[in-house]
Amino acid sequence: MGLTEIDLHKELKKYFGFSQFKGLQEDVITSIVNGHDTFVVMPTGGGKSLCYQLPALIQDGTAIVVSPLIALMKNQVDAIRSISSEYGIAHVLNSSLNKTEVNQVKADIDSGVCKLLYVAPESLTKEDYVDFLKHQTISFLAVDEAHCISEWGHDFRPEYRNLRHILQRIGDNIPVIGLTATATPKVQEDILKNLGITDANTFKASFNRPNLYYEVRPKTKNVDADIIRFVKKNDGKSGIIYCLSRKKVEELAQTLQVNGIKAVPYHAGLDAKTRSRHQDMFLMEDIDVVVATIAFGMGIDKPDVRFVIHHDIPKSIESYYQETGRAGRDGGEGHCLAFYSYKDIEKLEKFMSGKPVAEQEIGHALLQEVVAFAETSISRRKFILHYFGEEFDSETGEGADMDDNVQNPKNQHEAKDDLELLLKTVKETNQLYKSKEVVRTLIGKSNAVILSHKTDEHPLFGKGSHQHAGYWMALIRQALIAGFLKKDIETYGVVKLTKRGDEYLKIPMSFMMTEDHVFNDSTEEVVVP
Ligand code: ADP
Repeated sequence: MGLTEIDLHKELKKYFGFSQFKGLQEDVITSIVNGHDTFVVMPTGGGKSLCYQLPALIQDGTAIVVSPLIALMKNQVDAIRSISSEYGIAHVLNSSLNKTEVNQVKADIDSGVCKLLYVAPESLTKEDYVDFLKHQTISFLAVDEAHCISEWGHDFRPEYRNLRHILQRIGDNIPVIGLTATATPKVQEDILKNLGITDANTFKASFNRPNLYYEVRPKTKNVDADIIRFVKKNDGKSGIIYCLSRKKVEELAQTLQVNGIKAVPYHAGLDAKTRSRHQDMFLMEDIDVVVATIAFGMGIDKPDVRFVIHHDIPKSIESYYQETGRAGRDGGEGHCLAFYSYKDIEKLEKFMSGKPVAEQEIGHALLQEVVAFAETSISRRKFILHYFGEEFDSETGEGADMDDNVQNPKNQHEAKDDLELLLKTVKETNQLYKSKEVVRTLIGKSNAVILSHKTDEHPLFGKGSHQHAGYWMALIRQALIAGFLKKDIETYGVVKLTKRGDEYLKIPMSFMMTEDHVFNDSTEEVVVP
């Protein structure tokens, strides 16, 4: 079906009752309806589902939608069925169906009634299903939560890797639509490669959440008291407090209760009934605060969450962004307060120690970004958006003044000479080192790697010893954000010069630097363990 024949606005109104598309939806849908491979990156709540649901409803045949969680699929199917009274219009195909049910699903696909078929990737591998689908009209394959394909995403699922292969067995020329809310360039590259859609039309929405206020505070032994004070100040407002362990969730929820705060715990160790009761209490505003592990949040749609507190720092910027993203979804106030101590980073490192080496390296690289975020004194919004591959103007961008660093700026100083020395050091050590070795070279502290390259004999070795390690680490981070340096992801964080960095070396200019926050138990250890 060609685009010219369809009035998308009319169809939107007809099926969903909306009179306008949200953000990039219309462009995405146009691309899908025209049969192009399409890639969509939109933050949670951006309206991704409609991007494939509407084309599926208006096109011939059945769209296969791969999704990682049965619960999410069921929600979606219920939602679709509620907009159309036809029972067969959307189905979930999974191992919990009995034979009669499977036959019904097949009959609805065969007759063309079923427009959306939700499957988990492992179900799609079943020979019987593949054989059946081979003989059907498939409008397209939508891969939801497509970041599951990448080890660099926050939810890697090996079964996602087979999708391209399975699709080839189902049919030729079936368009593929990948959708994700994870925006890092590395994950995106993995998705396109693995789905075999490197030429896809790509649509990427901004990840800026201008109404969220970001704040990081040092975590001391008084953290619980700090949290109580914060919650009391925000009396009557809804909030989520994330902790790493179930034990801490229980303890903190109790502490809050004892202090007169209406709070309940939520974690995967509670039985399903208690979990759903606590969730309902939160949605119905019988309580103000949920103290939770990351088990809480998937699919929670409470628009007026006014604060998200991280009692423990998360293991990646993606997780931080996802979790803080649950605040202020209605566009109103959303205060994101994280407590940070380097000891927590070490704890997270320890959790990874039994895992395969590649996974550990990735985990470590992601954690280093969290450290950089916590300790930076530049605009936190700029930091986050840069991480997601987005430029943000911290003077004029939307929400530019909404973080602790911008509200309480640290002094800046001229760092032209130091930046020049840093870039030169990176260049002359052949762009082989991660930040740690670059800093060591600057301050003249060798280690095995440095000795193996004889860098300790290089004339630049120790040329930056007038500054401490934490200073250089901060300068590297700021040079990364300013685009003079880049981190090579394939090699887990080797620092390289960009074109802009190369040009700077030819004509060095003024560069104003702010020093990072120094957390008493952190910076030195990060750099020189
Ligand atoms: P995502 O999958 O990107 O997190 P959803 O698909 O769940 O986002 O959509 C988020 C919300 O936005 C849903 O409540 C959905 O009904 C709503 N929505 C989607 N498209 C539109 C639109 N064009 N107009 C109004 N609301 C929309």
